[in-house]
Amino acid sequence: MAQGIAWPALHGGATAMTLALAWQLERSQWWTPDELRRHQQRQLALVARHAATTVALYEERWAGLDPTDPAQWHRLPLVSRADVIAAGPRLLSRRYPADHGRIDEVRTSRTSGEPVRVRTTEVVHAMWKALTLRDHAWHRRDLDAHLAAIRYAGPEVARPPDGARSQGWGPATAALAPEAPMSLLSVDSTTDEQVDWLARVDPVYLIVYPSVLGAIARRVAERGVRLPSLRQVRTISEALSADTRALCREALGVPLVDTYSAEEVGYLAMQCPERETYHVPAERVLVEVLDDAGAPCGPGEVGRVVVTDLHNFASPLVRYDIGDYAEVGAPCPCGRGLPVLNRIVGRRRNMLVYPDGRTAWPLFTVACREAAPYVECQLVQDTAGAVRLRVVPHADRPIDEDDRAALAAALRASLHHPFDVAIEVVDRLARSPAGKLEEFVSYARTGITNSCDSSSP
Ligand SMILES: [Zn+2]
Repeated sequence: MAQGIAWPALHGGATAMTLALAWQLERSQWWTPDELRRHQQRQLALVARHAATTVALYEERWAGLDPTDPAQWHRLPLVSRADVIAAGPRLLSRRYPADHGRIDEVRTSRTSGEPVRVRTTEVVHAMWKALTLRDHAWHRRDLDAHLAAIRYAGPEVARPPDGARSQGWGPATAALAPEAPMSLLSVDSTTDEQVDWLARVDPVYLIVYPSVLGAIARRVAERGVRLPSLRQVRTISEALSADTRALCREALGVPLVDTYSAEEVGYLAMQCPERETYHVPAERVLVEVLDDAGAPCGPGEVGRVVVTDLHNFASPLVRYDIGDYAEVGAPCPCGRGLPVLNRIVGRRRNMLVYPDGRTAWPLFTVACREAAPYVECQLVQDTAGAVRLRVVPHADRPIDEDDRAALAAALRASLHHPFDVAIEVVDRLARSPAGKLEEFVSYARTGITNSCDSSSP
């Protein structure tokens, strides 16, 4: 910032870059689908050529194909999460441009199987910040207002009853509204602790996982709690059901804005400012929605979500099958040319039920993975007092008695209750018709039905 200049702000460096991107995004959202597609194709060719010539995985898989030729695009094989995990260093570029800045490693956190690891750059981070600003602009958020978040914050961070308090919402708005109040509570808390905390903090905005929001909204209604300052709820990280959206409006009296993103690629779709459908940020990612035969789905059809990251030159993800499903939408009446998704059918969580009826969002995968080696696991709750961990062992490393004891102890500690724990060793875990694994399933009853019970599309 130049000396003696307070207003209007004269930003330099990374903030200036973010604002320059945000200004371009403000214009490009109104381009026609054809214009967007033309510009996207230019960037797509650059990243595809880079992947084809500097990344071992694509050199092997694309032999004889030209990934920059739109006519051959559909012949490029999809890359699954399992492929990314198996590829390891063969997904890294041997020569990424130095001016893309510092490299960070991103590790997906909330999966029951092995995490997906990718590298990202400062270019990717700048795009993420600009899109975050677009989302704030679309939904008319006051960047100086009080934001509360209930999410995973790391072990022993932001514990109930008080959580943690800080200034600034995060990197995207740090330079623009450095003093905005921010309150954080670990998602590793009970629904009642969350409701008590919200009533005390009384935020203007709340950011939360959909399954957690559903439970909070029910408790708020049952207990007659009021959150007088709340203006808007923002959901992240899981598939949102229509029920939860309706419940938010009824119980909390405010609109809900949903975002579809993934740690390894950032934003994939953001809610339209005028409707409850989503726009794909075509300036940042190519999202293909494909049927079982690999052909693009039309409006109203549900297919698998296949993502190409246009700007990650460190770990290029080209035609990455992220494991979610989405329904394609018709062009949006709001006038934006960005592609439309009607709904996302992805991961959903069940809520854990304690014997006294309390509910909580179970966090156990990190603790279990530290307790014993295994391929993947699933936690099943049959009654309010008992849980069952179904574990698939490595072929060369069976689960022994010590592992069982360690897993049971890790579960009781991370669920904060002395549950009856059974460890069940299985050859495989059943997946939904869409191929998804539910990492936690509860059949315990709270007397209220949980709208987040089903995860299959
Ligand atoms: Zn729209």
